[in-house]
Amino acid sequence: MRDAGRGVDPAALALVGGTPLVRIEHPEILDGARIFAKAEWLNPGGSIKDRPVLAMLRAAIKDGELDGGRTVLDSSSGNAGIAYAWIGAALAVPVEVVVPANASSERKDRMRAHGATLVETDALEGYDEALREAHRRAEADPDRYWLANQYSNEHNWRAHYDGTAAEILEQMESPPTHFVAGVGTGGTITGCGRRLKEAVPGIEITMIEPERFPGVEGLKPLGQAEDIVPAILDESVVDRRVPVSSDAAARRCEELARLGLFVGLSSGAYLDAALTVAQGADPGARIVTVFSDLGERYLSTGLWSA
Ligand code: PMP
Repeated sequence: MRDAGRGVDPAALALVGGTPLVRIEHPEILDGARIFAKAEWLNPGGSIKDRPVLAMLRAAIKDGELDGGRTVLDSSSGNAGIAYAWIGAALAVPVEVVVPANASSERKDRMRAHGATLVETDALEGYDEALREAHRRAEADPDRYWLANQYSNEHNWRAHYDGTAAEILEQMESPPTHFVAGVGTGGTITGCGRRLKEAVPGIEITMIEPERFPGVEGLKPLGQAEDIVPAILDESVVDRRVPVSSDAAARRCEELARLGLFVGLSSGAYLDAALTVAQGADPGARIVTVFSDLGERYLSTGLWSA
C-alpha cells in the first residue's frame, strides 16, 4: 500500500489548474465590451473544485492530519466530492463524502469509481443538511475522520488567490475591469475577489444570486435567515449582486453549447450575469468569469434534452 504524503507527487496532480482563458463571443455583447471565461471544466476532475481540494489535502498531509489512515470527510453537491475522490485516490488517502441524494448520478458514479464512500442525505433538505451530517459524523468519531470542511478551510479561498486569480492576471493582455462569480463555498469569489482587488484598483466584483427553487447545482442561495453563510465567504469584496433565474442559466447553457462550449448550469448562470454586467458597462470593459464544470455532468438532468 502506498503511504500518503511521502513526498511522492502523483503525475495526475500536475494537471490541476493552468486552465486557458477563453473569449466568449455572444450576440448580446455590446460593442466594445469583452467577456472572458476561465476554462475550469478542463481540470482532471471536470471542475474548478480540483484546485481547492488539492490545496486542502496537501496541507492536511503536511500537517499530519491524515496520519494513521484517517479518512477525509466532507459534504459536497458533487464537484468537490469528485475532487476529493480522485485526488484522495491519487494520494492514497481514504475519502467519505456526504451528498444530497439528488446529486446527479454521473457525479455519484464518478466518486464511487475512485473508491470513495458516499453517504446520502435527504434531497429536500438541501446542501445545508449534507453539511450538518458531515459535522455530526466527524464529531461522533474524531479519531476516524478528518473533516476537510471546505466551507471554512482557509486553503479553499487561498487556492483561488494563488491559482485561479493569479493565472487570470497573467493571461489578460490588459487587466480585467469586472469579475463575476457565484457562491458555493465562497472560495472562488473570496480568493479571486481579494487577489484581483489588490492587483486592479477599481475592479467591480459581482456576486450571482441564484433562484432558490429549483436552484443551480453548486450554488448556494443566501439571503434567508436559516441559510448557512460559509465562514470563508468575504462579502466585503462584493460590489454588486445580480439575481439569475434557473431558466435563464439553462438557456445560457444551451447557447454556450451552440457556441461549442459544453459546460454546466452554474456557467450558464455566470454568463447570464456577465451579460447583465456588460450591458451597463463602459465600452472597453473586460469582464472575467469562471466556467466551473463540464456539461456531461448534467446529461441526466435533461438540461439539453428539452
Ligand atoms: N459552480 C459549480 C458547478 C460548483 O460545483 C461550485 C462549487 N460548489 C461553484 C460553482 C461555486 O464555487 P465556490 O465553492 O468556490 O463558491
